[in-house]
Amino acid sequence: MYDVKSLKAEEFISDEEIRETLAYADANRDNMELVDAIIEKAKERKGLNHREASVLLACENEEKIQEIYELAQQIKKDFYGNRIVMFAPLYLSNYCVNGCVYCPYHMKNKHIARKKLTQEEIVKEVTALQDMGHKRLAIEAGEDPVNNPIEYILECIKTIYSIKHKNGAIRRVNVNIAATTVENYRKLKDAGIGTYVLFQETYHKESYEQLHPTGPKHDYAYHTEAMDRAMEGGIDDVGLGVLFGLDKYRYEFAGLLMHAEHLEAVHGVGPHTISVPRLKRADDIDPTAFDNGISDDIFAKICALIRISVPYTGMIISTRESQAVREKVLPLGVSQISGASKTSVGGYADPEAEKLANETSEQFDVSDQRTLDEVVNWLMKLGYIPSFCTACYREGRTGDRFMALCKNMQILNCCHPNALMTLKEYLEDYASEETRKLGMELIERELEKIPNPKVKQTTYEHIHDISEGKRDFRF
Ligand code: SAM
Repeated sequence: MYDVKSLKAEEFISDEEIRETLAYADANRDNMELVDAIIEKAKERKGLNHREASVLLACENEEKIQEIYELAQQIKKDFYGNRIVMFAPLYLSNYCVNGCVYCPYHMKNKHIARKKLTQEEIVKEVTALQDMGHKRLAIEAGEDPVNNPIEYILECIKTIYSIKHKNGAIRRVNVNIAATTVENYRKLKDAGIGTYVLFQETYHKESYEQLHPTGPKHDYAYHTEAMDRAMEGGIDDVGLGVLFGLDKYRYEFAGLLMHAEHLEAVHGVGPHTISVPRLKRADDIDPTAFDNGISDDIFAKICALIRISVPYTGMIISTRESQAVREKVLPLGVSQISGASKTSVGGYADPEAEKLANETSEQFDVSDQRTLDEVVNWLMKLGYIPSFCTACYREGRTGDRFMALCKNMQILNCCHPNALMTLKEYLEDYASEETRKLGMELIERELEKIPNPKVKQTTYEHIHDISEGKRDFRF
């Protein structure tokens, strides 16, 4: 029944295969010879399959877990360096016809304020985001063919890309909207989107159907096969994720890796990113009503195992997580984080409006409420380079072409200088005095690490040009 190359959800995410995987992991969790062999294989940096990774997830030996953490940190350093790419979500509309029981946008929620941004409001939101320094957005919307049809989403993308305020620009729009048709994915591709993101929520079919009792999202196969349709529509950067807390984490973890293996087997390219959201309190939603919540330690272990299992896939942590948790998992392999996020519709331009109206349009509570400048400052103090780079997709390095860059270890000659140049733009245009000072020192130090002398020289020149007012350099 299990067939990694099948295009049928229940065959590439076979329940039987997941159950057998979990039984195999249970039987081998204390088999140190096997655990060691799997860790050795991971050290080759070619990844692990869902069975191997599941054994490591089941293993509770502290020494081995420590070894996994160290390996994850090393792989993160080798493949991603110390860059952390920044982005922000932009909520377009919370109208939704689905019945997702964990999401406040569910159709029956009558006390959430329903909002949909007009194009004028988008200009205000994006101007506010540009004024913070953001260059990369993830647009979010509920599913509602009447209020948020694909034409609306496409119009919003066009508006977002067209806004040029002071030195600001949104250079990459990622899209997180409900599963749709090949034709609509093609339209998104033509609109110039970056990554198409769709969380599976849960890979467990029965739970999935209970958690999505009504609306188009109820269809497990249609949802699970969405990434294949997206790729058929020409989108070669897709982002996976499960909402941890809905079902048993070991089941989800195996399913997630099987999904990644499926994309690689069928399309020759794995997921561009994996997100690891955890269920949060929200209007009309009590996360304690879901009894599969995971501890911070298990969460960290999952992040480390994703890093060593799919070394070429970016990993995203949102502001659902607190500063402390983010700090814990950043070194274990995270490559992208959001900063200063608002999960309400219209929350950037007018953050006070909701409070005054005493009603919320928020999707969930944000744990990390710091400003972008605070997040950038904090990252640099921890030794990271906050990056506002969007070069890859603009240079056509999507899908396996980005992976090739990673595999050839050209990151230091390409992503590293791009990160420094975009950070310099941020420091010039948006940073506080203290952040600017810290950043300038960091850039001086990090420039020295560029191995290719020609690239190094050009980067020096561009960094200087940015001080003179020029913008948007990239390799
Ligand atoms: N509506 C689109 C869909 O159905 O896929 C995607 C947009 S939705 C705004 C983005 C994600 O937020 C969902 O896929 C879900 O995983 C997550 N989410 C929903 N409710 C949440 C909650 N209470 N806590 C944390 N994340 C939540």
